[in-house]
Amino acid sequence: MPSLTEVKHYLKACTDRDHLWMSRPLAVASLLVILVLVKSCQGISFLNSREYKIHQLGYPLNEAHTLSLALSDQQVDSLIALQYYDSLACSIVSQQYFIQDHFTRYIAYHKTDTAGTSPTDIVAIVNVNGDNDWEKTAVKCDTTRGYLILVNKYHYLDSTYKRGDMVKFQTTCSYPGNEAARDVVDAFYKMQEDCKKQTQAQLMVNTSYRSFDYQTEVFKIHDKSIVATPGHSEHQTGLSLDITSIEHPEKWSFEKSTEGKWMREHCHEYGFILRYPAGKEHITGYGYEPWHLRYVGVKTASRILSEGITFDEYYAYYIEQTN
Ligand SMILES: [Zn+2]
Repeated sequence: MPSLTEVKHYLKACTDRDHLWMSRPLAVASLLVILVLVKSCQGISFLNSREYKIHQLGYPLNEAHTLSLALSDQQVDSLIALQYYDSLACSIVSQQYFIQDHFTRYIAYHKTDTAGTSPTDIVAIVNVNGDNDWEKTAVKCDTTRGYLILVNKYHYLDSTYKRGDMVKFQTTCSYPGNEAARDVVDAFYKMQEDCKKQTQAQLMVNTSYRSFDYQTEVFKIHDKSIVATPGHSEHQTGLSLDITSIEHPEKWSFEKSTEGKWMREHCHEYGFILRYPAGKEHITGYGYEPWHLRYVGVKTASRILSEGITFDEYYAYYIEQTN
């Protein structure tokens, strides 16, 4: 079908010629008829659109438009088949970390949620599989991700896993026996040096790598709600450090100290993130741990900080989804 512009140009060309084949009033009348026909076709086409079908379920037109862009044909068909209306659906698909494949899980979570969870949190919780029992549905983690390996309550490591590039820390900045991946050790030295220049305090590594067997012993004697199940401890990756300082060796006084604050503000410049931030317990599965750093590299650490998300959310959206 010709576009309106093409029709107008054609009629103008006709009326401009010396040998007019129709009078100007006839040309105008023809144009009006064509306009009506085009508009009718557009109307019929809209009535058959995904957008209109979603609108018919009760969503305002702007929301129907958003949903039609965010969902697959199959998901739209499913909404229509179920005659499904949810006032939160549009808000969910508009979230920054919305993953299309998870749409039905977001909706299922919302339907059974009694806590008034926000769309942002629904998306975050489902993205990190928090809508399932983490331990009962746990999967092996992908060990090919280098510094971006994810170990948490849902992803676990084999009992024999250990990186091949581990080195021991100097005992001037670590309690004896601690080791970590070579780049992590080097990044820590740099951070420790700069922290000392800025705050005069000396950061210390309390714990770094923990083997599966060691974690098993820790797990036996500590509160199960705060200690990771063997295989699920990030310390087994060789990329995690528990830090305090010589001046403030107790972890909660370290949290309030100048060097503790400096470390949290600057650790991303050395490739570290605060792995278990406050207010994200429902995403990470752990309470706030101001002493626990995780190495992910400078680029990823900076992005995680600037977006205000956890590594679990980052992994779900930027790594897992793109596979
Ligand atoms: Zn730790």
